[in-house]
Amino acid sequence: MSAAVPNDQLINDHLIEERESSILIKGGQRKNQLKCDADSIAGCISQRACVYCGARVVLNPVTDAIHLVHGPIGCASYTWDIRGSLSSGSELYRNSFSTDLKENDIIFGGEKKLARAIDELVQKYKAPVVFVYATCVVGVIGDDLEAVCKKAAQKHGIQVIPVQSSGFIGNKSAGYRAACDALLRLIEPRSAARPPVNKYRIKSINYLGDFNLAGEAWIITEYLRQIGVEVNVVFTGDSKCNNLQKAPGAALNIIQCAGSMAYLAQRMEELYGIPYMRVSFLGLEDTSASLRSIAAFFKDLQMQRRAEELIRRETVAVKPQMEGYRAKLRHKKAAIYVGGGFKAISLIKQFRELGIDVVMVGTQTGREEDYQTLHHIADNGTVILDDANPSELERFMTEKGAHLLVGGVKERPLAYKLGVAFIDHNHDRKHPLSGYVGAVNFAREVHDTVCSPVWKYARGSGGGIYAGS
Ligand code: SF4
Repeated sequence: MSAAVPNDQLINDHLIEERESSILIKGGQRKNQLKCDADSIAGCISQRACVYCGARVVLNPVTDAIHLVHGPIGCASYTWDIRGSLSSGSELYRNSFSTDLKENDIIFGGEKKLARAIDELVQKYKAPVVFVYATCVVGVIGDDLEAVCKKAAQKHGIQVIPVQSSGFIGNKSAGYRAACDALLRLIEPRSAARPPVNKYRIKSINYLGDFNLAGEAWIITEYLRQIGVEVNVVFTGDSKCNNLQKAPGAALNIIQCAGSMAYLAQRMEELYGIPYMRVSFLGLEDTSASLRSIAAFFKDLQMQRRAEELIRRETVAVKPQMEGYRAKLRHKKAAIYVGGGFKAISLIKQFRELGIDVVMVGTQTGREEDYQTLHHIADNGTVILDDANPSELERFMTEKGAHLLVGGVKERPLAYKLGVAFIDHNHDRKHPLSGYVGAVNFAREVHDTVCSPVWKYARGSGGGIYAGS
């Protein structure tokens, strides 16, 4: 923990003026008033992904859907192969189909090309649903996606759902919302009112915001099965069109990734009366607390007893390994820059489990309540920032002497250039970080990267004290 409270003025030196309100120091003069959930400042190279990417994150794991990107080929580079979502069945989602718009289409419009692409794909793949993603160019030229999709749906007798995700219409959060609207359209036509919860499914839940990276949804589903809870639908990890349509039959929605799925949970509460709760299966503390909260919701003493047994068994099993890593990692310093606020909150707790001090924490799409919690749990002196750019991340990691950055694909090169260890906590990874097994994987990965001998030979090594060029 940093004892001295840094001077806000010092931190604000050399920052772009409009960015100052999006950065604060815990314990500094400004008290927990962080600007967030706003558009990026023009001219800043924000680390945020675009609207289309936000939508694709949420919908891509629908395994039996055709994902058709209406735009230039570059936007379609986002495919399964750069994501870690696993499927137990269809592999159709691994494709990223594109209308490959060219200059002529931009001048004369791309609607006919889009209609032809849908016809061809439906004929070839016989999928139950097509998601058609709008990209920046489509927003600019004004193709009427709604009309093309409606006509194609009538022609083929399946759902063809436009996703209004032109890259410039907002930030990544707008993409999450566009994807949730598309999911609601997928569910709604067959479920105008909530079907009664079947008495045999009274203990069933929908699990929102788990994208089954490296099989994480399967791990959590198994924990829940062991305590007597049935997972009705996962949004959207390893999901299929027809399971998603059963979502209104669950008794409870639990949300792991609140940034992307809180809106869907709120809408499902309004439409179908399903209550929701936030959970987190990242780290030992949050996994145990989440299992207890779910069991408490159902007011079932047997379930609560089974949850306690599972927590005890799993905690005892991982304790020796966790203690071994903790002994080697104590008092190292970590920086966090991730997509959503809830993940950042869990990561602070996870680093504490390992004896690591968090010196910087930020997110792309955190909300005010997330930053209030982050501010509350962070140590004095921690830099807290929203929608950062690479120059800010470099500066604060260097000033704070971070040994490790946890982030996504865009942060990895920055960490390596600074001679700092890196953990990928985004959708690109291929090993699970959820649940008890994930907590040990995380600890092992932190240990292996922080304690790697490579940092002795990297420029700027030695606790991230970057010497500059
Ligand atoms: S939608 Fe726009 S910002 Fe997003 S990848 Fe495509 S061109 Fe880039």
